Order: sequence, then C-alpha cells, then structure tokens
Amino acid sequence: MPLETDVAILGAGLVGASAALALRRRGLSVALIERDYGGARASGVNFGGVRRQGRSAAQLHLSARAHPIWADLRRHIGIDGEFVRSGHLKLARSRADLESLAAYAERVDGFGLELTILEGAAFRARFPGFGPQIVGGSLCPGDGHANPRLVAAGYAAAALAAGASLLEQCRISGFEHGGGFRLRADDGREIRSPCLINAAGAWGGEIAAAFGDDMPIRVDYPTILVTEPLPALLSVSLGVEGGGFYGRQVSRGNLVMGGGFGIDTGNDTARPDAQAISRIGEHGAAIMPAMRGAQVIRVWAGIEGYTADKNPFIGESPRLPGLFHAFGFSGGGFQIAPAVGEVLAELVCDGASPTPLEAFRPDRFQGTCP
Ligand SMILES: Cc1cc2nc3c(=O)[nH]c(=O)nc-3n(C[C@H](O)[C@H](O)[C@H](O)COP(=O)(O)OP(=O)(O)OC[C@H]3O[C@@H](n4cnc5c(N)ncnc54)[C@H](O)[C@@H]3O)c2cc1C
Repeated sequence: MPLETDVAILGAGLVGASAALALRRRGLSVALIERDYGGARASGVNFGGVRRQGRSAAQLHLSARAHPIWADLRRHIGIDGEFVRSGHLKLARSRADLESLAAYAERVDGFGLELTILEGAAFRARFPGFGPQIVGGSLCPGDGHANPRLVAAGYAAAALAAGASLLEQCRISGFEHGGGFRLRADDGREIRSPCLINAAGAWGGEIAAAFGDDMPIRVDYPTILVTEPLPALLSVSLGVEGGGFYGRQVSRGNLVMGGGFGIDTGNDTARPDAQAISRIGEHGAAIMPAMRGAQVIRVWAGIEGYTADKNPFIGESPRLPGLFHAFGFSGGGFQIAPAVGEVLAELVCDGASPTPLEAFRPDRFQGTCP
C-alpha cells in the first residue's frame, strides 16, 4: 500500500530531520525518507563547527535564529549533542588578514556576534600556544562546537519520537508529479504526498532536476582528521582567515581538524586524499606547535553540495508549487540546520517565513552561468 502523508521529506540529514520535527509540532503527518540511516551523511560526519563568524550577512539571519537552539538542544531533541559554547577564533597570518577580519566585523555589526579583534601582546597573553606566524585573530565568544554524530542522529530520533514516519534504507529512484508527488523506492515502496521537501544534500541537484528544476551544485568531499587524545591545548573552535584549516579539541582530548578535500570513490562514497591529510597535519602543527608528533587515529571524507555563491537553496520551486528545496549548504549547513527546519515548516504551513530568504531563492542562477 502506498504511504500517504501531508509532507514527504527526501533526506534524513539534519535539514530533513529538523524540518520533520518542526512539521510534526505543527500537527502535519510526515514521511522522512532516507537511503541510508538518519544523519549518516554530511550531517553526521562533519567537523562540528557551530559557527556564525565568517558567514555572509545573508546567512546571519538564519544563523541568529539557530543560535539559541544550540544552547537549548536538550529541550529540542532530548540530548545536548556535546555542544560547547567555546568561542570561535578566526586566525590571521598577516596584517592583511587582520584588516580583512576587522572589515568583516564592521560589515556584520548588528547581528550580535560581539567580535573582538585581538593582536600583538593582548593576543599572545590570551592565546600563548599559537605558532609565530599567527599575528592575531577575531574572537566570536558565543560560537562553539558539537558532536555531529550525536546531533544528526538525535534530530532523526526526535522526529521519529514526535510521530514522523522514518523510512530508512529507502532510496528513492522514481519521481512523479501529477495530482501530488509520487516517490518510488528501489524496493518498491511508494510514498504519496501533496508536498515534497527536497533535503537530499549533495544529491539535491539531481532530485531538483528530476522535477525539471535546474539548480546547479558542485559536489566535493571535505576531509577530517582526528588525533589521539592530547593534553588540553585548544579552548576555542578555530578557523583561519582565507580558509584551508579548521580545528577543535573535544573534552576527551582528541583534536579534530579539517581543511582539505578528498576523492570520489564512486557509488556515492568518498575517501580522504593523502596529500590533503598531510597538509591538514602540517597546518595544525604550524598553528599549534604543541601537537607536533601527535598520532592520527582516524580520517574520513564527507560528501557536500556547493553552490556558486556558497549560499544554500531554500524555497519553493518556481515551477512546481508544493515542491520545496533546501540543499547546497556549501560546507556550512550544520549550525543553521535547526533554523532551516523551522523555516521550511513555515513555508509549508504559512506560505512564508519571517526569516529573510531572498538570497537563497531556488531560481537565482537561472539564465546565468554560475
Ligand atoms: C566533512 C564536512 C565538514 C563540515 N563541517 C561543517 C561545520 O563545521 N559547520 C557547518 O555548519 N557545516 C559543516 N559542514 C556542512 C554540513 O555538514 C552540511 O551542510 C549539512 O550537514 C547538510 O545537511 P543536509 O541534511 O542538507 O545533508 P545530508 O546530511 O547529506 O543529508 C541528505 C540526505 O539525503 C539522503 N538522500 C539523498 N538522495 C536520496 C535518495 N534518492 N533517496 C533517499 N535518500 C536520499 C542522503 O543519504 C543523506 O542522508 C561540513 C560538511 C562536511 C562533509
């Protein structure tokens, strides 16, 4: 028998699961459909940076909406996800970097990030452990980090507990529209719904195309490295102006670091690239000399969709009413996902959201060549 539901959500990553939870709280029936297991893809294997600093002003409305949810995660999904409000420090390796960080702080003044630019003796006094090439940084005290493995699975579990039907091991390969959406899984299961949310992450562009929406994304494979537990040497979550490295230390002492990209190994899998791994280690040791010689115990690469302007697609299809897209988070969907789910529920139930979404329009690249 086909499963009939008010809303079908394709993808049980954080975006799909947080939308499912928000829609259940509005009283709608929801089928949350996942090829693998809830939160097994980018949402569960990312770096875990819960960071507002560095985002475009367009994203900071969403980011500000997500910000209080992180501190209150236990009330939302029943676990705290190891969220720590550690602060996020963006490092500068030159005066030009410092100027760029100061210009960003000025641009986003008004979003409540409370950025402080630190340099010279004040910086060294506060952060004595950084290598000599680090000349300062911008500190966002309210940002932090969390354990993606716990949070992503936690959102899917919370959606299930709230009454969503969670269909795992259910890869959708048949897409039809006409008097509603009909999704057919490889194993023959069928889901029918008047409303479909495309939260398929790196596969979102393919799902959009199956319904005739041209929404280009580039797929890439961000890579993460974890060291053995080390003595406490990093109190904040780290980024670097210009990109290329990020790091955090968990309470058990392991350093979690990223920055490079891995390799497509086919069949929707990826693996780290050896050179990228070496580079992450070299950056880490240059930035935090105390970690030099640490053993690497784990590496992996996730799969993520990137848009040309690094903003996600969030909104209703311009061609097909009832089809809502939310993908292309371009390496930054973890922090904002709790708010994206609420926004999607508003779009479905109310036809609009109080959070500005203009920068995320699904049709913004149409007629252009991104
Ligand atoms: C290594 C790495 C590090 C990152 N670090 C950070 C960070 O520090 N901070 C931050 O904010 N963001 C970070 N991100 C980005 C963030 O993880 C993603 O933007 C976010 O998780 C996207 O969530 P999602 O739900 O859209 O996608 P996903 O988690 O990929 O979920 C989409 C789901 O759709 C399913 N699906 C796809 N096609 C089908 C189909 N045909 N049938 C059924 N199911 C299907 C997939 O199996 C998948 O589970 C990082 C990403 C990676 C990979």
